[in-house]
Amino acid sequence: MPAAAPLSESGVLTNRAPRTVLLIEDEESIGNLVRTYFARDEFTVVWLRSGEEALLELASQKIDLVVLDIGLPGIDGFEVCRRIRSRSQVPILMLTARDEEPDRITGFELGADDYVLKPFSPRELVARAHAILRRGRQAAYQDVLRLGEVEVRRSERVARADDQEVKLTNKEFDLLTVLIENAGLVLTREKLLDEVWGMTYPGDTRTVDVHIAQLRRKLGLQDLIVTVRGVGYKAVRE
Ligand code: CA
Repeated sequence: MPAAAPLSESGVLTNRAPRTVLLIEDEESIGNLVRTYFARDEFTVVWLRSGEEALLELASQKIDLVVLDIGLPGIDGFEVCRRIRSRSQVPILMLTARDEEPDRITGFELGADDYVLKPFSPRELVARAHAILRRGRQAAYQDVLRLGEVEVRRSERVARADDQEVKLTNKEFDLLTVLIENAGLVLTREKLLDEVWGMTYPGDTRTVDVHIAQLRRKLGLQDLIVTVRGVGYKAVRE
């Protein structure tokens, strides 16, 4: 299997830690393009053509980011995503063609961190990868988030209010996490919809309102998740 070493064509020393991208893509032209752009940016790229091979690879070496195509021979990208998430929190960036988007399920629901629609700009893809890796570092640094009497443990996906565990749906949990991570900032409904449900989610912004209401009710956060009229929501630190 081809596994490209990092290109040293620039000859420039950087302080960046080496990062390894696992690229799962069966189309040669797209795979070559993606590999080239990541390698130029000093990523090590491991390129595999099927999910089955990729899952084995993930178990055998440290991967910092997975770039995952949906249309693959054998198990498809959604299934690969699901299987990765059952055992690893490695960031996953999905490559999506519009006609591959099933109606009800999206990569986000399976735990993907972001996606780009084909045809995509490889520069944008690499930029998204950097954004995910930055977020990932912050996430690792802050496994426990707090807002008032509410504590969120991301690795366990558990929320507690006054030391009592509170059952949240996945979307409620994700929404709460995004709000606390961005405490002090106003987040628009569109931004929240995008962050939590993904841009292709067919719902409207009312979905956000409904979930916010649930979070406030379940966690007693009426005063700490505030509505910013005509804009969106903000978590406020006491
Ligand atoms: Ca494909």
